[in-house]
Amino acid sequence: MADERPKGKCPICSEPTDAHYRPFCSRRCADIDLHRWLSGGYAIAGRDDDDDMASNEAAPKSEAERPDDDFRSSD
Ligand SMILES: [Zn+2]
Repeated sequence: MADERPKGKCPICSEPTDAHYRPFCSRRCADIDLHRWLSGGYAIAGRDDDDDMASNEAAPKSEAERPDDDFRSSD
């Protein structure tokens, strides 16, 4: 119960979240995430889907498939 850590951890590298770059730990990871979004295939950290073959048909935009979406709750 002693949760004194930041709100969560970076979905990219699992480092503690930085308040400035929530829900990421740094601008770099935020950038990586952004690139994934723009690429059309949001790959969740830990899952290596290497499908950057311009195939959008098998890439459903599921925004509700985030592993850590507790970054909205401000404590
Ligand atoms: Zn990170």
